[in-house]
Amino acid sequence: MLTKGNVEIGIETRFGPNWPGVRCGARTKDGGECQRPAVKRTGRCTRHSGKSTGPRTKAGRDKIATLHTTHGRFTKEKRQAAKKRAEVGRTVRAEIKQIILCEKNLPNVEEIKEEYLKGLKFHYVKNMREVLDIALTKQRVKEPKTIQ
Ligand SMILES: [Zn+2]
Repeated sequence: MLTKGNVEIGIETRFGPNWPGVRCGARTKDGGECQRPAVKRTGRCTRHSGKSTGPRTKAGRDKIATLHTTHGRFTKEKRQAAKKRAEVGRTVRAEIKQIILCEKNLPNVEEIKEEYLKGLKFHYVKNMREVLDIALTKQRVKEPKTIQ
């Protein structure tokens, strides 16, 4: 008789308990392992290979939605912190008035539009000594320490 519950049909050709091949092994609804033969490429049967297609029920989609908004790069707190860091960066960059560069960079700076260089003074140097001459003040500290 051909009915869904008929376990006798095709028993000779089915992958029975003594079949020596690799089985799928995916977790099934009843908690066991899938006994269908595995495909070589994926190691799973044809039903259990491939990526998840995601939650299907409304409850499942809602659960995923809440899970995805409680961690990761774009939480409210992290976005707020990133905004604050960007603001600090803009403030710091706005305070930059002088830039020390190797003289090899001169042609590159000349390519930049004049409007972007407003308020900036460029120092083109050949070596580190020139950098120190520009960057350090001549003012001495009150009680200098001697390094042995
Ligand atoms: Zn399977």
